[in-house]
Amino acid sequence: MKLLEGKTAIITGASRGIGRGIAKVFAEQGANVAFTYSSSSEAALVLETELKALGVQAKAYQSDAASFEQAQQLADDVLNAFGSIDILINNAGITKDNLLMRISEEDFDKVIEVNLKSVFNMTKAVQRTMLKQRKGSIINMSSVVGLKGNAGQTNYAASKAGIIGFSKSVALELGSRNIRCNVIAPGFIETEMTAKLDEDTVAGWRAAIPLKRGGTPEDIANACVFLASDMSAYITGQTLNVDGGMLT
Ligand code: NAP
Repeated sequence: MKLLEGKTAIITGASRGIGRGIAKVFAEQGANVAFTYSSSSEAALVLETELKALGVQAKAYQSDAASFEQAQQLADDVLNAFGSIDILINNAGITKDNLLMRISEEDFDKVIEVNLKSVFNMTKAVQRTMLKQRKGSIINMSSVVGLKGNAGQTNYAASKAGIIGFSKSVALELGSRNIRCNVIAPGFIETEMTAKLDEDTVAGWRAAIPLKRGGTPEDIANACVFLASDMSAYITGQTLNVDGGMLT
């Protein structure tokens, strides 16, 4: 049985990394997938083709998650093309790491806009459709760093902790309309974002994880399938750590 058969999902930031992994697993589970990217047009078109080959409807949209107007336009375009919006995954995110001493105002603001304001933009953009449908599942990508903090990532940690407060509030506001909102807090997932780190640091992290490995995009995607599907119909306002036991 396919767990997401006939459902339409919007996934932000799916040209690479975790988002791309979610898009593929969602298509395998029967979901129609509308996904966004910022600048990787070629990778996005390759993914669109791969998803269609799995027999679902799929479309790539270049859309800046930090832009309120572009989020509204995206939700309109997806509704026109797909006919419904059942699942929203706010996955797009960036890092601009620096010690507080050195971080610029611009780099603080940019990370908050792309990682946190984007979640507001997209949730607001799909809200009317989900209210009319009287159902919806919203999944927001936080981080272990949003739960415990990290030196050199004040901007990123603030954005990821903000996502948790936002999501709990949405769960309280929209629960009566059968719209659920949950958070996933990935630990160390091996993608391009983490490939920027030096190999010694990465080896140290792997050794410190109880399950002794970095996570894969599929590990996150499988948790998203559960939270997006009717298997989690009575779960809202929660944060699920998918981190190999890192925060235990
Ligand atoms: P990634 O490999 O760097 O991919 C980021 C994705 O977001 C790309 O598809 C990128 O599109 C897109 N994106 C960036 N800025 C955007 C914008 N303004 N509007 C729309 N899309 C935008 O990152 P990742 O490692 O897969 O991380 C995905 C999410 O998981 C992020 O929210 C991240 O904070 C979170 N996370 C990751 C880890 C980890 O260990 N990797 C751990 C905890 C949480 P382009 O390709 O066009 O640039």
